Amino acid sequence: MRKLILVVWALLMIGISAQPQSPQKGLDIYWCDVEGGAATLIVTPAGESILVDSGWPGERDAARIAKIAREVAGLKQIDHHLTSHWHTDHFGGISALVQQIPVKNFYDHGFPALPVSDIPPELVEAYKRVTAGKTTVLRPGDGIRLKQAPGSPPVSLKVVASHGVVLGEKDGAPQVRACSPEAKHEARAIDTSDNARSLAFVLSFGDWQFFDAGDLTWNVEHKLVCPRNLVGTVDVYQVTHHGMDISNNPALVEALRPRVAVMNNGASKGGSPAAVRIVKASPGLQGFFALHRNIQSGPEDNASPELTANDEEQCKGEYVKLAVGPDSKSYTVSIPSKGTTRSYTTARIHR
Ligand SMILES: [Zn+2]
Repeated sequence: MRKLILVVWALLMIGISAQPQSPQKGLDIYWCDVEGGAATLIVTPAGESILVDSGWPGERDAARIAKIAREVAGLKQIDHHLTSHWHTDHFGGISALVQQIPVKNFYDHGFPALPVSDIPPELVEAYKRVTAGKTTVLRPGDGIRLKQAPGSPPVSLKVVASHGVVLGEKDGAPQVRACSPEAKHEARAIDTSDNARSLAFVLSFGDWQFFDAGDLTWNVEHKLVCPRNLVGTVDVYQVTHHGMDISNNPALVEALRPRVAVMNNGASKGGSPAAVRIVKASPGLQGFFALHRNIQSGPEDNASPELTANDEEQCKGEYVKLAVGPDSKSYTVSIPSKGTTRSYTTARIHR
């Protein structure tokens, strides 16, 4: 009898331990189509959301972002909103967006001494109203404190460039830095626009890494990898500046060695052939995705049709979705409207 009880007890224990745990979640990214602006929505395994940029002013982009956030990602709010820089296609949408979904915390690179010609004062005022002046200015080395999901690989976001300087530099450091003579770099004219002050960050989830530099331009991109690569390699590269050729310095792209690139271009904005060629030629690249077909370029300078979310200028604003598995070891990138999904293995060594 006693033996029977023990056997029953043992079977019960096996049954209990075999109970399915609540499934671990992975990390998702949605590239919302804001027609050549930027709106990259990240959802962490703990369910926290980070929206990087809010598209153009007006209802269209805010509605597209809020629809993906609510209906696809199942969010009730945006926890963290990060503005890469102060251009209309990156923070113009914020006042319309907060009418559609609550936004809790704001991060940016701080305002330069205003006025400057490329930062619209009415949008600055709108941003200050929306944030009630409560924003966190991020500098290289800073991050956003993120919740960790129990049992999941750690998730972190680290800023590597902001306000024109990179890790290890102080505010006001020169835009062009001397590098080794054999480095493949020709400095370009000093970029005085806010593009050069874009926030750039690395998002890590376990072994997996994503790089987003807003519209960072050539000279500052170069400082990130020369004389020393401050970023390491990444799995996924958001093609900088919508794929414009004043960004995507080949020295940076080659050093990052992304396996997947996602370009947030418009039908006739960004996706310039020179930049597309640099990214496509990057050693190790396996997948090149785009929000739009560039209607001015031929097929060779576009992403392949099945990896392009929107083919025509008059489009429905289809998005690109990335899903990193709960263990961070693999990920998929898909164009849901076309039913295309590609799978990739996470690179294990980043430094
Ligand atoms: Zn832009």
